[in-house]
Amino acid sequence: MSAAGTKHLLPSRLPQPHEVDHSRLVIAPGPWLADQWLVEDQPGRNPRTLTGICDVADCVTAAYSRPTAEPAQLCYAHYWQWCRAGKPSDCVGWIATGAKPCLARSPRPSSRATPLDLGSLPPAAATEIRYVVGTKVTQGDWTPNRGLRLVLDLLISEVRRDGATSLLERRPEDWVLLIRLRCQVRDFNREVRCYLNTFFSTLQRGVLPDPWAEDKWLWRGCFDRILAAAPGREEANLSWGAIQLPWLRTGAKTLAGMHLKAGTRSSSTLQTWRRGLTALADFLIDEGLLEPRQLDRDVFLDFLTHVRETGGSKQALLQVNTVASVLELLQLEDVVTELPTPVYLRRGENAIDRAKQPRPYPEDVIERVDKLVLADPQAPPTVRCMIMLLRWGCPRVGELVTIPFDCLKHNGSGGHWIEYWQSKTSAWRRFPIPENLAIAIRAQQDQVRADYPADHKSSFRRRRAPTSAPASPAAGLLAASETPSGTCSPNTASPTPP
Ligand SMILES: [Zn+2]
Repeated sequence: MSAAGTKHLLPSRLPQPHEVDHSRLVIAPGPWLADQWLVEDQPGRNPRTLTGICDVADCVTAAYSRPTAEPAQLCYAHYWQWCRAGKPSDCVGWIATGAKPCLARSPRPSSRATPLDLGSLPPAAATEIRYVVGTKVTQGDWTPNRGLRLVLDLLISEVRRDGATSLLERRPEDWVLLIRLRCQVRDFNREVRCYLNTFFSTLQRGVLPDPWAEDKWLWRGCFDRILAAAPGREEANLSWGAIQLPWLRTGAKTLAGMHLKAGTRSSSTLQTWRRGLTALADFLIDEGLLEPRQLDRDVFLDFLTHVRETGGSKQALLQVNTVASVLELLQLEDVVTELPTPVYLRRGENAIDRAKQPRPYPEDVIERVDKLVLADPQAPPTVRCMIMLLRWGCPRVGELVTIPFDCLKHNGSGGHWIEYWQSKTSAWRRFPIPENLAIAIRAQQDQVRADYPADHKSSFRRRRAPTSAPASPAAGLLAASETPSGTCSPNTASPTPP
C-alpha cells in the first residue's frame, strides 16, 4: 500500500462516543482554546505600511497610500478620487479644496473579523474540534487561513443543525455527506473534503481506547503520540490483520509492542516480522495446524522447504530466518508458552548468500588521515596505532577498542595477520596486515604488558570514566591514552571458534 493511501486510513473499528474518554485528548496550546477564535492569521502580504487615518477632513477610514512626496496620506477611496482628479501634485491643496466626502458603505461582515464561536458548542464536540485543529496546526500540516475557516464554519453549523453532542455520533462519511448537501463551494473535493478526510482520521486515531489492541497500528496521530516520536519522524502503518492465525497475530503484536516501547526494534524490522509471519500463518492454515503446540521443528522445516519450493525470493528466505527468531523470542518472553521447541532453526540451516557491499572510507578521508593525523609527530602512539589499524582494516570501532591481545598472528614466514571475533555478526574475521602496522601493534602490546598485569586481555588500554570531564573529545582521547591508570577493565573472554 502506498504511503499516500495510508495517511487518511481510519481505524478498523470506530469507537462510540460513550467509549471515549475525552479528557485523554490532549489539546495543543493555542488560540483555539479560547471560546472565540479568530481563525485567520494576519494577512501574509500587507501592503499598508501607513498608520493612522485619512487626512481628508471628516474621513475616519484607515490610510492606504501616501500619493506624493508630501506627508499627506489618503484612504483607499480618497486615493482613487485623487487619481480621478488627474493626480494633482499639490496633494495637501487638493485635500483642502478638491476632496469630497466618500460614499457611505455599510461594511460587509467578514470572516476575518468575526471569530469562530467554539464556546457555545457542546463540550465534547468543541474538544474534538480543538484537538484536531491544535494537532494539525502545531504539526505544521494546516495553517489557520480562509480555507480552514470555511471548513470549520461548515462543520460547526452542521453539528448545530444536527443537534449532535459529539462528532463521534456519526460515521465520518455521514458527516462528509451531510456537509456536502448544504455546501455551496465550487470544488467540494478540493476545498472541503481534503480537510475533512484528515480531520476525521486524526480524530478517530486520537480517541482509540487501546491502540495496541488494534490490528492496524497507525503512525500519524496515534503511535507517534504514544511513542513520543521526534517531530517529523514518519513510519509506515503496521497492519497485523494479514496474519490469519489469531494466536500468532496476538503474540506478534504483544512482542512487537514490547520492542517498540523499549526501542529495541525498528519499525521496518516489525514490517519484516509481519510479512514473514503472514506467510507462516497461511502455511499453517493450509496444513490445518491451528494450535501453537502443533508448530514443532519438523513443521517449521517443512515451511522452509515450502518457501524454497515455491520459488521463494532471497527476501522470503531471509524472512524465514526472521520468523524463526520471532518464534524463539515468543517463548523467551513468555508470550506464547505452548510452542513445543525452543529452537526452530539452527545456525546455517537456512544460509543465504548476502551480496557484500563494503563501504570504504572516502578517498579524501584516507588522505587526511595519512597526511594530518598519522603524520602528526605529537599524536600519541596508542592513538596512532588505533587509527592505523582502523584505516587499514576498518574494524567496527567497538571491536577496535576491545580487540583482544592475541589478535596479532604470525604466519611463520614473515607475514602477519589480524584475527578477532565480530560480536555483531557472530563471526571470525581475519585479514593480513603490512609489516609497519604489525610492528606498531607489537610495540603497543609491549607497552600494555609493561603497564598492566598479564591478565589484561585487550590490545589497547581502557580507562573507566575519567574523574573530571575532559575539555574536548580529542583532549579526552589524549588523556586516556597518555595517562596510565590502574582501573583498566579487562576485556571479557571472547568465545571460542566453532
Ligand atoms: Zn478618506
